[in-house]
Amino acid sequence: MPNFDYDLITIGAGSGGVRATRMAGGYGARVAIAEKSRVGGTCVLRGCVPKKLLIYGAHFAHDFEDAAGYGWTVDGATFDWAALVAAKNRELDRLEEVYGNILSNNSVEVLRGRAVLSDPHTVEIDGKSYSAEKILLACGGWPTMPQIPGIEHVITSNEALELLKLPKRMVIVGGGYIAVEFAGIFNALGSDVTIIIRAPEILRGFDEDVRATLSAEMEKKGIAIRRETTVASIEKTDVGYELALSGGEKLATGLVMYATGRAPNTAGMGLAEIGVKMNKKGAIAVDEWSRSSVPSVFALGDCTDRVNLTPVAIAEGRAFTETQFNNNPIQAAYDNIPSAVFSQPPIGTVGLTEEAARALGPIDVYISRFKPMKHTLSGRDETIMMKLVVDRGTDLVLGCHMVGVDAPEIVQGLGIALKCGATKAQFDATVGIHPTAAEEFVTMRDKRPDP
Ligand code: NDP
Repeated sequence: MPNFDYDLITIGAGSGGVRATRMAGGYGARVAIAEKSRVGGTCVLRGCVPKKLLIYGAHFAHDFEDAAGYGWTVDGATFDWAALVAAKNRELDRLEEVYGNILSNNSVEVLRGRAVLSDPHTVEIDGKSYSAEKILLACGGWPTMPQIPGIEHVITSNEALELLKLPKRMVIVGGGYIAVEFAGIFNALGSDVTIIIRAPEILRGFDEDVRATLSAEMEKKGIAIRRETTVASIEKTDVGYELALSGGEKLATGLVMYATGRAPNTAGMGLAEIGVKMNKKGAIAVDEWSRSSVPSVFALGDCTDRVNLTPVAIAEGRAFTETQFNNNPIQAAYDNIPSAVFSQPPIGTVGLTEEAARALGPIDVYISRFKPMKHTLSGRDETIMMKLVVDRGTDLVLGCHMVGVDAPEIVQGLGIALKCGATKAQFDATVGIHPTAAEEFVTMRDKRPDP
């Protein structure tokens, strides 16, 4: 048995990498984690956490408006973007320290610098070599953009979290999670936001009723959605930018953000050179144990492009460490993964879309649309949409979808029900909590007629 410096070196101190490595350290393995930037990764530093803090900040704009219907006068409320960004950054600093402490408390050595693999057991960082019995790639992803003329002028979500000034007008290209979340933030804070999508609708892959409901709600709030449109080029002008759109139209704006997807961060790491197989997008091919084509090299999280969500990377990290360092072979499960989009209003979803379920066999669909009680007095024109997709033969609930206030908080619990194999009859037998929006999920009785 060769003598390695470590039992495990992980590359990338994001959510998945940190979970796997600190658990391995806790089990007594000799472990190190390589990180070229700050500890915390996309979720903590450039994604979920800062984004959600900005969403809380933005939501006050609606809350102040809604307060009037309840007898409040909120005069002279002002907003300071720089103060919000600074507060958010202080929280990120705190979280980075928490992550650092978690690592040191579990005897994980942090190797600062960019890691490159030179053989299946060796990592080079800034000219130094470190060997390990196992190497775990948890190097995440990074925004990608089409290479059109003028693309150097655009920002991504990374920069949107750090803007010095709120834009008066902005264009967001793309209609995925990131585009709709940032559109909601900037729209609520007063920017004039236009989304440009090449498809007929936002949020490809989501249930059609979810997509249509959210885009209608976004348009009600004043977000313009330019459908079936692409950007041919971007030119800098004296006052901002001019976009040349498909069809020949020009669109002037103050800021252009691209949210056209993310790609695995795997280039220039020596992976192909040592035989690690990747797909065309650069995602590392792994088996159900997160093992790559090189037996000592494993990978998890966004760099494998399976389900690109933090809790999934964490589940993959836990499964890897239990299997490799605790003699407890487990695999991450990919069925019924609940997820949310923190748009305004937000989306919560778990299980199959109507379209996916219908392709598998006969289903019943229950759908409900109503005005949240809060808005009876606030007067806000915002509706909630809730939907259940049920297997007609077995009565199993196959999918739950919601667009509306608190949807992510509500759908998390429904995720447990679906994981347990709940039937529609069991939903119906559950007593509602009154008065809530959530109770609608246990009181839906009318099936939508078959299409
Ligand atoms: P998505 O893959 O969700 O969406 C990309 C969007 O960009 C789609 O609307 C797509 O259009 C469009 N697009 C792609 N290429 C082009 C192009 N060349 N020209 C014009 N439009 C294009 O990516 P995001 O960047 O929004 O998010 C990345 C990942 O981050 C997601 O996979 C998600 O898992 C994760 N994430 C999760 C969040 C959450 O859980 N709340 C929040 C934020 C991110 P089309 O539909 O036509 O393909």
